[in-house]
This record gives sequence, structure tokens and C-alpha cells, in this order.
Amino acid sequence: MSSNSAKKILSSYWDDGSVPVNPTYIAAQMGVLVLADPRLDGSGHYKPEGWEGKPLITYSPCEHPVRQRFTIAHELAHHVLGHGERNRDTPEQFSMSYHDPKEIEANKFAAELLMPTDVINAAIRVRDIKDLEKLAKVFGVSKAAMKFRLKELGYVVR
Ligand SMILES: [Zn+2]
Repeated sequence: MSSNSAKKILSSYWDDGSVPVNPTYIAAQMGVLVLADPRLDGSGHYKPEGWEGKPLITYSPCEHPVRQRFTIAHELAHHVLGHGERNRDTPEQFSMSYHDPKEIEANKFAAELLMPTDVINAAIRVRDIKDLEKLAKVFGVSKAAMKFRLKELGYVVR
């Protein structure tokens, strides 16, 4: 289960439970090198032995910062879930309608990593943050990603 894997990674490498979660920091803690590549064709790429035999994530720094965060979390999923080398991910692959099971899994992992269920529930119920735009800002994700995630968790989003 990809969301359980994300929970495990968070409890091992992101113990203070604060948001926004930093996927680059978590990757570094796991020994995965993360590099920006302005010439990258696509949003991101994962290679198990991409740098001196060590795992490497490259991402495009030309996209919006929240997008870059999601890309890194998504590529980290390919690493954690043992997907092996993945082709350069394109924006189409990040859309939830994409049908490759490994891509769907990676997106679920990324969503749980950046928008952990417990932290969302606390933000809404304890901190009383109800505004979609504000929530997206707190978690450092796009409004679209936040909306999708809230619906997934059973919240009614206008
Ligand atoms: Zn992917």
C-alpha cells in the first residue's frame, strides 16, 4: 500500500510532523541525491543507480515550486516502492487519470507524503483552517492537488 509506505517514511524521516513536508530533505536522509536539471525533458526522473551507483532524482526547476515539490515526492515514491528506473515523468503522468498502476501508486504516495491524513485532519478540525487556498499554502501544494486530496479523505469541497 503506497499510502502506508508514505506514513512509514514520514515517521522514520520526518518525525516532527510539521508542514510543509520537505521531500528533498527526506530523500537526502534516505541517501537519494536530488538534482535540479533545467534541461530535463519532463517534470522528473528516477534512476536507481543514477549517481556513482546511488539513487538519483532529477527534476525540472522551470516548473512552479509546488509542482517541483510534488515531482520530487512522486519520484521518491518510485524509489521507495522499488519501481526501478522510470521514464522521465511528464505532466500527463501526474494527472490522476493516468492509468499506469505504478504512476497511480506514486501519486498516492506523494499525496500522503505531502498531505498526511493526520495533519490535514488537525489543520481542519483543530486549527480550523477551512479555506482551500489557505490549506494548499500550509501544505505547499497546488490547489488542485489539495482539492483532490480533501475529496479523497471524504471532505466536502466546494
Ligand atoms: Zn512516475
